[in-house]
Amino acid sequence: MLEKVIIANRGEIALRILRACRELGIKTVAAHSDADRDLKHVLLADESVCIGPAASNESYLNIPALISVAEVTDAVAIHPGYGFLSENADFAERVEQSGFTFIGPKAETIRMMGDKISAIQAMKKAGVPCVPGSDGPLSDDPDENLKLARNIGYPIIIKASGGGGGRGMRVVYSEGALLNSIALTRSEAASTFGNDMVYMEKFLENPRHIEFQVLSDQYGNAIHLGERDCSMQRRHQKVVEEAPAPDITPEQRHNMGLRCAQACQNIQYLGAGTFEFLYEKGEFYFIEMNTRIQVEHPVTEMVTGVDLVKEQLRIASGEALSYQQADIKIQGHAMECRINAEDPETFMPSPGKIKQFHMPGGPGIRVDSHIYNGYTVPPYYDSMIGKLIAYGENRNSTIARMRNALNEIVIEGIKTNIPLHQDIMKDASFTAGGVNIHYLEKKLNL
Ligand code: ADP
Repeated sequence: MLEKVIIANRGEIALRILRACRELGIKTVAAHSDADRDLKHVLLADESVCIGPAASNESYLNIPALISVAEVTDAVAIHPGYGFLSENADFAERVEQSGFTFIGPKAETIRMMGDKISAIQAMKKAGVPCVPGSDGPLSDDPDENLKLARNIGYPIIIKASGGGGGRGMRVVYSEGALLNSIALTRSEAASTFGNDMVYMEKFLENPRHIEFQVLSDQYGNAIHLGERDCSMQRRHQKVVEEAPAPDITPEQRHNMGLRCAQACQNIQYLGAGTFEFLYEKGEFYFIEMNTRIQVEHPVTEMVTGVDLVKEQLRIASGEALSYQQADIKIQGHAMECRINAEDPETFMPSPGKIKQFHMPGGPGIRVDSHIYNGYTVPPYYDSMIGKLIAYGENRNSTIARMRNALNEIVIEGIKTNIPLHQDIMKDASFTAGGVNIHYLEKKLNL
C-alpha cells in the first residue's frame, strides 16, 4: 500500500480522501493555499504544507509547488480529487516523471479523453454508442458541412474538440445559420482552448443525463458499478444526483455497463472513471468520459457498498481490483443534494462565517462536508460546502429521508441553497422520477 499521499485539493473531497487514507493506514499531507489553513482536512492531516496564496493558479494549480511538496515530505503519490489538476495530463505526466504516483489514469489516457474528438473515436472503436455526428473534425469545405448537417438532420450542435465546462458549443436549428455558427465556434475555440478543431453532432432536445461508474486496474480487470442520473442541472452544473437512474432496467444497466467496462479494457484505463451519456427515447449516447473521482460518487457507494476512493488508492498502489463484476449488486436507492453557499433565489455566492452548523442524522443519512461551527467559507473557490446523501430501500423512502434531513440541517451565518433542495424534494415531476436535463431550469424560470 502507498505509504504517504499528498492531497492536492480542498474542501469536502480533500476530507473524503483523508478519511479513505486513514482507513488504509496511509499517511497524509494536506497541500493547501494560504486561505485554507482552517480547512478541516488540513487540521486533521498528518502534515500540512502551504503551497501558495489564495488564488488557485498560484496554489491548487501550481504544479511545481505540488511536486516540491511531494519531494520534501517524502510522499509517494498525489491524489488530485476533482476539478483543479485532476484532469490535467501535463500534471499527471510531471508527477510520474518526478518519480511519484498520480492517483488516476495514465497521462496519455487523460489526454485522449480530454480531447472530445479523440475520446469519441476511442469509444466508437470500443463499441460504446455515440451521438450521430461528423465522425471527426469538420473541414473548411462549406458544401461538405452543409451536406453533413442535412444527413444528420437539424437541430445539430457544433462542439469544440478542446471544449469543457459547458463552453465551446453552439446549437444550430436551420441550414441558414450553419456556416456562420461553425465559423464562430471555431474562432471562439481557437481563442479559448488554443485549438480550433470543431465537430458536429445531432442535438438531442430532451435527453436525461445518465452516467456509468467504472473501476479498472493495471491487470486488465474492469468492472462497472451501475449508473447515476444527474439530470437535475442548472447551467450544466449538477444539483441533485441519484442511483440507480429511474426506469433503467437491469438489462439496460447490464448491457451499457458491460460496454463501459470493456471500453476500459480496450484503452487500458486505470482507476475510477465515469462514462457520461445523454439518454433519450431508450437510447444511450456517449458524450464524454471523466477520468477522475466525481462529486456524485457517494450515491454509487451507497447502493453498491463499494468505497470508491479506497479502491482508487488500492489500484494506484498496484493492487488488483478487490471486486469482480458478479460481486457488484445494486441495492436500494441513494440521492445526493449538493449544498452550496449561495442565495437560493439569485444563486449569488454567499461566503462568510458559519455561526451555527447542526448535522442531520438518522438511518441512511450521510454528510460529506468540511464545514464546522465557526468555519469561514472563503470567497475564492467553488461555492459547494458539502453534500447531503440519503439512502433508502426504494426511491420514495430515500426522498422521505432526504426531506427529513433537509429539515433538520441548520447552517446559519451564510445563505445556502437548502430551500431550493426542499422545494425540489416536493416537486411532483421530480418525485415521479425521470425528468430531463432542462427540467430544473424551466422550473426555476417560472
Ligand atoms: P463539457 O465537457 O463542456 O461539459 P459535454 O460534451 O459534456 O461538454 O456537454 C455538456 C452539456 O451540453 C451536456 O450535459 C448537455 O446538456 C449538452 N450537450 C452536449 N452535447 C449535446 C447533444 N449532442 N445534444 C444535446 N445536448 C448536448
